Amino acid sequence: MAIMQPPSPTLSSLQPNPLGKRRFRPLRFVVWLAGAILIAAGLAWASTQVSERYAPMLLTPLGCGLLLGLLLALGMKAVGAGHRTSLLSGSLVAATVLAAGQHYFPYRAWKSQAPSGAAVIAAQAFPEVADRVSRRDASFIQYLRDEANPGKSLGSYELGPVGVWLFWGVSALAILVGTAVVIVPATRAPYCDRCGRWYQSLRFGAIDNQTARAIASLVNWGDIPHGDARFRLWGCTGGCEPDGCELSWLVSGRRAWIDRQTMNTIVKLIDLSAAAQQAFKAGGRPTANQNAQPTADARQTE
Ligand SMILES: [Zn+2]
Repeated sequence: MAIMQPPSPTLSSLQPNPLGKRRFRPLRFVVWLAGAILIAAGLAWASTQVSERYAPMLLTPLGCGLLLGLLLALGMKAVGAGHRTSLLSGSLVAATVLAAGQHYFPYRAWKSQAPSGAAVIAAQAFPEVADRVSRRDASFIQYLRDEANPGKSLGSYELGPVGVWLFWGVSALAILVGTAVVIVPATRAPYCDRCGRWYQSLRFGAIDNQTARAIASLVNWGDIPHGDARFRLWGCTGGCEPDGCELSWLVSGRRAWIDRQTMNTIVKLIDLSAAAQQAFKAGGRPTANQNAQPTADARQTE
């Protein structure tokens, strides 16, 4: 996991900071939230259908939460909503809708089952069944209470009424955790507050240490770790500056926000490094000279 450093101080004058504060855009938030609630309700309905027909544990609460988080993050990128506090609050609402929906849809199904003729006759003979039939008018809370009261067997455990409520609470918490695991890091991704678009990863891959050092000196990073690095280049999809450049090693990483000119220079360095690597693979002969430029040129002229 790469440890990201704050934007390079020499370039912090570039505005807006892609990791900084973001404006609240009400229309985008409302569109995203409406979609989020619909998605959460849809997931709740689908998960109750699946657990009824197949295995109850097939879609665990954590899995449902992760899926919800993923869909919310995709929606957030599509709509261009970037205001963190509102996105996280909205995700909490969506996770609650999902957790409650997993009880609410079975309740609706249970309520819609009109008592059959046989049940009505039986109700006249057996008061306790009559009680069950009359509960077709039960509220959601009453339904939950009646579901919890007989207890529930969970594997080899027998849960009492309180245990069932606790189990539901833990399931709801697992949904929330699953959602948060995806949405919290997603909202921390770079965002352009000028045009209201999320940054996109434009290019990524591996580079040799020599190229990494050349990039590091361009963005005033000083000393960097030894060994090959992985790079990632970021850009606003609307074309605004600054661009982003990220280098990471096994246990550390750095990110800088750079102007377009520096970005173009870095792209050239990476292109040369990639050309050199390809030429090396194609030629299959090791060269003492690790300089990218001559190797690439030598292959092109052959
Ligand atoms: Zn932009």
